[in-house]
Amino acid sequence: MLTIDCKDVISVKNDLLVYVADQVAAIPTLKNNQFTLSSLDDDEILDTTKVISAIKEYLDSIDEGRNFAVISNNDVINITSISGRVIEKTETESQSGLFSCTHCGYVTQYQVELNVHMRIHYL
Ligand SMILES: [Zn+2]
Repeated sequence: MLTIDCKDVISVKNDLLVYVADQVAAIPTLKNNQFTLSSLDDDEILDTTKVISAIKEYLDSIDEGRNFAVISNNDVINITSISGRVIEKTETESQSGLFSCTHCGYVTQYQVELNVHMRIHYL
């Protein structure tokens, strides 16, 4: 099992998880600031190199590839911001004029309320 630490790319964690799990055919499990990948077959060992290149491909696809380093350390892969800047999604506004949390689906009428709420995910 591999753990991918994505605290610096938390707002794209879900998209990243779907992309990487699909690329390497693994079962993803979402955790707080990270997700894990398990192989479909217990005997199979996940190829860290493949997982890293899938992560890099994803970051390139959102034009963030050069801003992040993807480093593996035993069974943990860290995605670390090089500049110190983290990816923040701003498209939280939906068609209905409501704001919804990209992490848990929490909905509010006010952007400021959402911003306050979002902090719980960054602790
Ligand atoms: Zn939330």
